[in-house]
Amino acid sequence: MTTLFAKIIRGDISSDTVYRDELVTAFRDIAPAAPTHVLIVPNKEIPTLNDAKAEDKALLGHMMLVAAEVARQEGVDQDGYRLILNCNRDAGQEVLHLHLHLLGGRPLGPLLKRD
Ligand code: AMP
Repeated sequence: MTTLFAKIIRGDISSDTVYRDELVTAFRDIAPAAPTHVLIVPNKEIPTLNDAKAEDKALLGHMMLVAAEVARQEGVDQDGYRLILNCNRDAGQEVLHLHLHLLGGRPLGPLLKRD
């Protein structure tokens, strides 16, 4: 199974890519929830965080450092930003290819809507 994000990373589907290296690709979310909304995606297909292995430890750490770098690039590092990682159904994960959402550019409000 090739995920939508794998197709984007390969260039089969176009995207607004803002960062790329040998481990990760970052591109703008097609339906932004904030002025800055970038997805940081490992080039390797890992469906969910549950599927990450000990051997992925450096990759996971690298995703965080890339998020901070993209936040600087986007000019949201000082005012602030939020990283979200959805895992499976209750979190609303739609694309089964591990990714971090980087959101910023406005006050983001409370972490979760309370019921
Ligand atoms: P999640 O719900 O955490 O799996 O997030 C998936 C995200 O992928 C959503 O915010 C979508 O708007 C975004 N998305 C879906 N298709 C594309 C695409 N072709 N290019 C960029 N982002 C996309």
